[in-house]
Amino acid sequence: MGSAYTTIVCDVIARYKRMCGFEVAYLTGTDEHGVNIERAAEKQGIGPAELVERNQKIFLELWKLLGIQYTHFIRTTETRHARAVQNLVRRTLRRSPSAIYKAKYEGRYCIYDNLYISDSSEPADCPTCGRPGELVSEENYFFRLSAFQKPLQELYAKNPQFVVPDFRFNEVKSFVDAGLRDISISRKSIKWGIPWPDDPEHVFYVWYDALTSYMSGIGFVDGEHDGPDFKFWPADIHAMGKEIIRFHAVYWPAFLMAAGVELPKQIVAHGWLLFEQEKMSKSKGNIAYPEPIVKVLGNDALRYYLLREVVFGQDGNFSRDALLTRYNADLANGLGNLTSRTLTMIHEYCEGKIPNRHVELREPHEHITESEVAGAGLARALEEACRERPKRAGLALTNMDFSGYLLEVWNVVSMSDQFLTYCKPWVRAKDLNERPLLEHVLYCAAEAIRFISVLAHPAIPEATQKIWEQLGQQGKLGDVQIDQLQWGGLKPGTRIGKPEGVFPRMDKKEASERIEIMENEIRNPGSTQPAATPTPAATAGGAGAAPAAAPVPGAKISIEDFAKIELRVGIVKSAEKVQGADKLLKVMVDIGDEVRQVLAGIAQYYVPEELVGRKVVVVANLAPRKMRGQESNGMIVAASVGPEGRPVLCTFTEDVPAGAKLK
Ligand SMILES: [Zn+2]
Repeated sequence: MGSAYTTIVCDVIARYKRMCGFEVAYLTGTDEHGVNIERAAEKQGIGPAELVERNQKIFLELWKLLGIQYTHFIRTTETRHARAVQNLVRRTLRRSPSAIYKAKYEGRYCIYDNLYISDSSEPADCPTCGRPGELVSEENYFFRLSAFQKPLQELYAKNPQFVVPDFRFNEVKSFVDAGLRDISISRKSIKWGIPWPDDPEHVFYVWYDALTSYMSGIGFVDGEHDGPDFKFWPADIHAMGKEIIRFHAVYWPAFLMAAGVELPKQIVAHGWLLFEQEKMSKSKGNIAYPEPIVKVLGNDALRYYLLREVVFGQDGNFSRDALLTRYNADLANGLGNLTSRTLTMIHEYCEGKIPNRHVELREPHEHITESEVAGAGLARALEEACRERPKRAGLALTNMDFSGYLLEVWNVVSMSDQFLTYCKPWVRAKDLNERPLLEHVLYCAAEAIRFISVLAHPAIPEATQKIWEQLGQQGKLGDVQIDQLQWGGLKPGTRIGKPEGVFPRMDKKEASERIEIMENEIRNPGSTQPAATPTPAATAGGAGAAPAAAPVPGAKISIEDFAKIELRVGIVKSAEKVQGADKLLKVMVDIGDEVRQVLAGIAQYYVPEELVGRKVVVVANLAPRKMRGQESNGMIVAASVGPEGRPVLCTFTEDVPAGAKLK
């Protein structure tokens, strides 16, 4: 939902700017490198290339579902991107030779957020997700960020809108004012990345790689031989979630300054979407997914809700109840109902043609009735509101105030509603003398709807296009120029289309249940099907050990056979990697009356430090064996998951003492 929000917001800006006559490049894409991708792939028992291929397809489908009109798409695993990243470093080395140097790096790193937590080896938790950081210690290429404090401060001073919203900009400024440390921009321990030019032992640090996609995606090659679409650089806006603002507002401009490339004009950060007031996360199981909402309520409903409900820049709350309330109030009973009642009356009273606009009603005349005076007054007010709306809505959009923009447009929806309620065209229709007023009222209402559909098009593109057609208008609404909207543009005599509900009213309870069922299906695929065959328990101790006479599958053993295995609760006292063995950890386990040394084939899946204090199950009476010159005295029990047999250690949720026997 977070990615959907960023992408929808950008889509609204891109569509709006196109309707103002700009040629707009809208670039999006997928970051496909980094250790978290590498590990996620490992966990699923597939290669990283296969994983990113799957992920990319999911995003492409989602953008299609949400009606995102991007013009450029980049995957960071593409050759054109790798070439751009390498060239950016080459260019930097040519122009600012001292900006990049080699040194030893030691620190803590969050693989989930691709974030350096601290530059010391002391354990530290990630400030973003709270998970413990992993220890990194290796020779890296460093970027001399410390030399860019002053240039960045000058940049911020010269561009008071460089980062929005303001309070984020203040955070960025204080971060830079506090002094900048050089940052590592390469990795030796990772293979899944873009090789460093002329030093392929290193791959690029994922952020240097990912940020460069803003340029490679529109044709950057090296700053001299770029593709034609690189004319769009520098970007007017980079948009993202607040958690990655530092990379965009501090590191990225510094990287670009060092390379002598123009800087993006504005960095825009939105807040987080909370789910019923809590941060969405996989571990909490409270992630809202866009697909079920789109399937039940439509793409426009989700777009409208997110844009209207979230104050841009602040954290927003996602609630299914609020979504359905908004849907029914603003879309079904609001715009949907206004459109269908107006068009139905035009069909009924005006033979399905846009009626005449009676300009003479605007001025008092000899035979004027009281209702005419009032109706004409309201019509003038509605006209006035419409005339000033493009400017006001545009101003809100320019300030990234999406909620304010929709408020401006929906203000006309409710004015039109009140206008019809007061003028009662259905009463005027009974009196021939009131025919001019009837026609004028219906004309004004239809014209207001035309304004609304143009203005709301960037936010709710599908429904507005349908309304546009129902008004008898030709062509794509996206091709209409917002700044050329003129009151009176709707031509009397135009045959209107069949009024069809664009936002059917929803039963809240029923819709909510349908969404929830689909969400559960995404969270637990196959949850509605019988449970899968349980994976057989396996041992993690015997990396490379030859299996002893394997039992015939399904064959039973006696209780006496089982009793031969002595299983005990152990507490991990220490753990470390075994030199020269990628998969092995040397684990010291307290099994009650002694501390055993056990070699476990779990090094690719568990960080040694994280194991300390953990309760495990140990096969205590296994004959000792030697592996890599070290003795393994027992075995730690783990489930074997997936085709790769990823080990997942057995543990206890309740408190058990070391040495307790398992029966
Ligand atoms: Zn983290």
